[in-house]
Amino acid sequence: MAIATVNPATGQTLRTFEPYTAPAVEQRLARAEQTFAQYRLTDFARRGELMHRAAELLDADQETIARLMTTEMGKPLTAARAEAAKCAKAMRWYADRAPALLADEHPAPTDVTDAGASRALVRYRPLGVVLAVMPWNFPLWQVIRFAAPALMAGNVGLLKHASNVPQTALYLEDLFRGAGFPDGCFQTLLIPSATVSDVLRDPRVAAATLTGSEGAGRSVAAVAGDEVKKTVLELGGSDPFVVLPSADVAAAARTAVTARVQNNGQSCIAAKRFIVHEQVYEEFRAAFVQRMAALRIGDPLQESTEVGPLATAQGREDLGELVADALDLGARVECEVAVPAGLGEGWWYPPTVLSGITEQMRIHREEAFGPVATLYRAESLDHAVELANDSPFGLSSNVWTTEPAEQERFVRDIQAGGIFFNGMTASHPALPFGGVRRSGYGRELSGHGIREFCNATTVWVA
Ligand code: NAP
Repeated sequence: MAIATVNPATGQTLRTFEPYTAPAVEQRLARAEQTFAQYRLTDFARRGELMHRAAELLDADQETIARLMTTEMGKPLTAARAEAAKCAKAMRWYADRAPALLADEHPAPTDVTDAGASRALVRYRPLGVVLAVMPWNFPLWQVIRFAAPALMAGNVGLLKHASNVPQTALYLEDLFRGAGFPDGCFQTLLIPSATVSDVLRDPRVAAATLTGSEGAGRSVAAVAGDEVKKTVLELGGSDPFVVLPSADVAAAARTAVTARVQNNGQSCIAAKRFIVHEQVYEEFRAAFVQRMAALRIGDPLQESTEVGPLATAQGREDLGELVADALDLGARVECEVAVPAGLGEGWWYPPTVLSGITEQMRIHREEAFGPVATLYRAESLDHAVELANDSPFGLSSNVWTTEPAEQERFVRDIQAGGIFFNGMTASHPALPFGGVRRSGYGRELSGHGIREFCNATTVWVA
């Protein structure tokens, strides 16, 4: 894949970049190592000051970076602005909370004595140079939710961003440098995915985090495993959205549309499988389809646009194949919202709702990365739980019920890294984010996220 900005709304290539040469990558690795040696000695107050300054710069740049993201990957401008604001919030959150999240841990005095020590504690120390391999779908947020905690913990970062968002990747390097972080604290590598393993194998790189597809995760984790290096993987998802009889069905249908089409349907935590109890199935189906049909599809730079184009030609082709396979095997089209004429040569995809899904269909097991929803009819609570777990993924989940016993049942049995009742999944700096099964391992955000790239060091004094 060429490293280039190609506007998904028009298909036009706006800028191309030569991949960094081997000596250029070497220079950055050396700089990262040298910077870490000094930066790790800075205190939380200094790091927090720099992180606050970076957040201020990002706020000031909000309109520019939002337009750049929309131009590089097609998300509606309003969503791009919100993404930039969310990033600044997370930067401030970690700037303020890192000292408490990484404070020394003191075991109970009786345990200290029992361990034969006069004093014992756990100190969280940084690991070193962390390589981040990131996707294009939230080109700012995916990076910041790694970088803010990693830098506050005293690590330094190397970013290999997706090849279709090179300008956002370069902006991020400028942002941290502009805030006063030492050169080498956060560097972007414009490299193809084929050379990621060389960087990861370099002894100066301590660990890696990857957000992206299962295939990319598998190959990075395999190399990291071979090198015995820590990894965090945030991979795909096919999150269930379960609606049970006690739910406010109208509210569920409204939220379901947003949960499915946010970011033009290209979100790992988008709800993708809609599992509705038969008592409310018809009511939900009608309201859901009606709302989907009313979506405003258009130029993502227009303020009123709710759904823009998919980010890449390949993404549109992959989604089309998934839908064609389902239709061949008998799925029904509940709605297919027409893309308005005259939108240009971009990678538009009609928001679609399918029902009659069977186990044989690829869409039942694979992730639909675009505005395509699948509807399932559940005969009972047990059946709803079974369908919700019938996926290789386990990122998050959404369940609509006001019955405490039903909520407890899902909390006990859902195979996912999160469960959101009577709402939709959304990330927040204070809440851990991540999955189980094929959705990956490790956690981002919260105290869990900042400690992933720390060396929890036992200090024992006789
Ligand atoms: P992708 O192809 O896996 O790309 C993600 C990143 O990995 C890019 O930087 C890509 O570089 C790189 N990459 C691809 N293959 C690689 C390999 N073999 N070795 C090393 N690096 C490799 O993902 P995508 O299809 O563009 O993005 C969508 C996927 O990301 C979806 O599955 C989505 O669910 C997942 N995602 C997960 C989360 C989460 O938090 N769990 C969040 C967002 C997205 P190039 O661009 O140069 O190929």
